[in-house]
Amino acid sequence: MSRSVLITGGSRGIGLAIARAMQAAGDRVAVTYRTGEPPEGLLAVRCDVTDTDQVDLAFQRVEEEQGPVEVLVACAGVANDKLLMRMTEEDFTSVIDTNLTGVFRAAKRATRGMLRARSGRIVVISSAVGLRGEAGQANYAASKAGLVGFARSLARELGSRGITVNVVAPGLTETAMSQALTEEQRAGLVEQIPLGRLARPEEVAAAVAFVASPEAAYITGAVIPVDGGAAMGH
Ligand code: NDP
Repeated sequence: MSRSVLITGGSRGIGLAIARAMQAAGDRVAVTYRTGEPPEGLLAVRCDVTDTDQVDLAFQRVEEEQGPVEVLVACAGVANDKLLMRMTEEDFTSVIDTNLTGVFRAAKRATRGMLRARSGRIVVISSAVGLRGEAGQANYAASKAGLVGFARSLARELGSRGITVNVVAPGLTETAMSQALTEEQRAGLVEQIPLGRLARPEEVAAAVAFVASPEAAYITGAVIPVDGGAAMGH
């Protein structure tokens, strides 16, 4: 299996774990990075998903180097947690612009080649918080819930063209994003997780790799939780 894969936000954390898993399975994997150093051993293209032109250029570069994107994993995301009273409109719209509109930009660009090929896989990284909500995360939860409606609409639009669109919804995962929590916040959240711990990025990557695989050809519009049971029933 050597498909051309692009992972936005694949420079670290969950995205990098997905990249390593898919590369190990034999795919040609490109990642986007925005700040810092690109990861080693992967095709890395600089791209800020809030900028349509940068998204287009990143796809062009990947197309030149490893062929049209056959699998898109939209993983780039940010959090900017605040209680509603303190949340400015900019705090709200900037998170939506990266987490939701950023996925729109990448998915729209990816479908160009996928429609031509009449096949493709799009996997969107949402969050358990998008399903159950969280105090202090109204902007983030809105963006992640929005992804579910977005992905399911695409699944309906693109199914007849052999393109599947699925959502993976991780719970709290051991990355830089979760390290922003205080010990107390972390303990409180772990208490609500039936499996009693955070996810490892590799555990999220395994679900993404499966839903992007040929074996998952009949799965589309699904929301797959990888959250230790945290959001059950939502
Ligand atoms: P990290 O903060 O470790 O990594 C975030 C990634 O997104 C980085 O590669 C970062 O690039 C990239 N990114 C952020 N903003 C932009 C942008 N505007 N344009 C392009 N790339 C951008 O986060 P995680 O690995 O923890 O999270 C990955 C995804 O998983 C996110 O969508 C997050 O919301 C989601 N998630 C995370 C959970 C967790 O507990 N960690 C739980 C549930 C979902 P750069 O390094 O250049 O900033």
